[in-house]
Amino acid sequence: MNSHNSDLLFARAARCTPGGVNSPVRAWKAVGAAPRFIASAYGAYVQDEDGNRFIDYVGAFGPAVLGHADPRVVRAVADQAASGFSYGAPTRLEVELAETICDAIPIAQKVRLQTSGTEAGMTALRIARAATGRSMIVKFDGCYHGHSDALLVRAGSGALTLGVPDSPGVPPQLAQLTLVARYNDLAAVEQCFARHAGEIAAVIVEPVAANMGVVKPDPAFLPQLGALAHRHGALLICDEVITGFRLRFGAAYELYGAQPDLIMLGKIIGGGNPIGAVAGRAELMDLLAPAGPVYQAGTLSGSPLSVRAGIQTLKQLAAGGVYERLEEAGAYLEAGLWSAIRQNGIPGCVNRAGSLLTLFFGPGEVRNADQAMSADREHFARFFNAMLERGIYLPPSQFEALFISAAHSDADLRQTVDAAVQALAG
Ligand SMILES: *Cc1c(COP(=O)(O)O)cnc(C)c1O
Repeated sequence: MNSHNSDLLFARAARCTPGGVNSPVRAWKAVGAAPRFIASAYGAYVQDEDGNRFIDYVGAFGPAVLGHADPRVVRAVADQAASGFSYGAPTRLEVELAETICDAIPIAQKVRLQTSGTEAGMTALRIARAATGRSMIVKFDGCYHGHSDALLVRAGSGALTLGVPDSPGVPPQLAQLTLVARYNDLAAVEQCFARHAGEIAAVIVEPVAANMGVVKPDPAFLPQLGALAHRHGALLICDEVITGFRLRFGAAYELYGAQPDLIMLGKIIGGGNPIGAVAGRAELMDLLAPAGPVYQAGTLSGSPLSVRAGIQTLKQLAAGGVYERLEEAGAYLEAGLWSAIRQNGIPGCVNRAGSLLTLFFGPGEVRNADQAMSADREHFARFFNAMLERGIYLPPSQFEALFISAAHSDADLRQTVDAAVQALAG
């Protein structure tokens, strides 16, 4: 398969951009290959600069739930563009999107639109700290909430450690305010509260973890997590940047019995354009300026282009049948991948929630980051490249979810499973 043009572009990119990319995972370092430069995308497919077409399971890392360049979303964005991109003033569109979100999500009494999920995480923490007068937070090993200082922290090994920054440039004094617990491990969270009584402002969690590969919450985990946080006077923040409007029309926390005070949204609600949002109980949200003293702002917050794309995407998701289709497609792929690894005697497991899915090579079950990290990354890298050769474009890391869209046809899914059976037979 020819990658001549992609390779030339990557060489040019490396001269003018750090690592040749504008977000690290795009560089394909984890799979030992040079990235394909994408020229266009339509429906379930992406096409690279050499004219190769792939069935796409990256889905822009989450937003493309309807598939790429859905005609009605394209029309909405084009129509909006002709009326101006952004005004620095409120619009009817922002009201419509906020009302749609508030109607779909019970805890979202109010919502503030922003430009990225990272911002939503920063703002949710700021509200929680202002509301409680406390500084510390608890996050889970393997959960990603954007790249802000406070949240760019994971545990090394062990169930419970004081935060150590994941990145140079994050002051240790800041990272020490972040405690890290093991996902699906309530005892670890209890220990945090026992050691830091009266100091923890919030616990932040992905209701379905999708940034260490897909890891589902145990049935008791989220209900008890909220109860535990609230008993200690802390807030629960559910990061629904991936799960919001992907697993159902609304938030995933309701599926799992969580009781958040604040949630974060992003990705799907922008229909493929830059967006983020924080939403929650009115008295918390009204701490934000100009209603309250907690400052937060953005030149392109609630950008008309993003908001039009989001409104149109949510309209189509609400129309019915989409989530049933996503579940059916997910179940088919899950069954096909399970049978492909079993047929070939390959140890591993397939974790799935709706249209989010990960095939882990190695571990028989994955319920937390330690088990995820035990996966065989080299086996994944071989699988990734063998799938690419067969026209299937997977997320380029063992620890990223596959994103299935409503545009993936039965034939696409069948072709994907056939390719996996061949790729794993090697
Ligand atoms: C993508 C993501 C974010 C960050 O969103 P950006 O728009 O990339 O800043 C936050 N939380 C989760 C769960 C995500 O997957």
